[in-house]
Amino acid sequence: MPLLTVSDLKVRYGPVEAVRGVSLNVEEGELVALLGANGAGKSSTLNAIVSLVPAAEGSISFRGNDVTKLPTEMLVRRGITLCPEGRRVFSGLTVAENLRLGSYGRADTSTLSDSYDQVFQLFPILKEREHQFAGTLSGGQQQMLAIARALMIDPKLLLLDEPSLGLAPQIVESIFELIAKLRAQGITILLVEQNVAMSLDIIDRGYLVAGGAIVASGTAEELKSSNIVEEAYLGAH
Ligand code: ATP
Repeated sequence: MPLLTVSDLKVRYGPVEAVRGVSLNVEEGELVALLGANGAGKSSTLNAIVSLVPAAEGSISFRGNDVTKLPTEMLVRRGITLCPEGRRVFSGLTVAENLRLGSYGRADTSTLSDSYDQVFQLFPILKEREHQFAGTLSGGQQQMLAIARALMIDPKLLLLDEPSLGLAPQIVESIFELIAKLRAQGITILLVEQNVAMSLDIIDRGYLVAGGAIVASGTAEELKSSNIVEEAYLGAH
């Protein structure tokens, strides 16, 4: 049984149908990506999975249980967490305070210190800057903090929305390396990215989204060897 199953999901904003029947699944331990151009409906899909926007139709199940109508905080308790697009760290709070906030809603608090150890080991720079305001960090460091904050929930499923957006190429590379590392540590990840080429180097499987629907899917190798990605992606521009 997949960890996450999304079936025929539709999301509407008034008359706009942003997601038009998306079905996908993520197995435990996998790194899966939703790839596609700006406005394809990727963020809306992630936001619907965590109930930040309602699913107009379709269903979402986690570990075999229907969670479509569960509120976001209940999903957090079950271990599903979203690291949203645009970082959104609390710039007037310190790094440590941001991390502490990230742990609210965590189901098992007895292992909280393990998560601090994990994030400081993954991001030594955050340990160095522990008492600095998050707003003083560089863009890349803020992205690391946003991911670290999401890890404080000890997620069973981590949703990452465009972690590379707006970062310098060198920083983008280190963010992708980090995502690969998280996967190697056994964290199940559903990643949303416009950066198709770099995503294909680290993911297990991908779904290509265009116009609110999935137009292709397969393993990274299958997607790399077909020209469907190129066609769909270029066609969407
Ligand atoms: P991006 O990379 O920009 O986040 P995306 O693939 O994630 O792109 P969505 O953000 O899900 O795409 O947007 C899908 C469609 O829904 C777009 O046409 C967008 O303009 C529209 N949309 C998104 N959010 C809203 C909203 N709150 N109200 C109205 N329309 C919206």
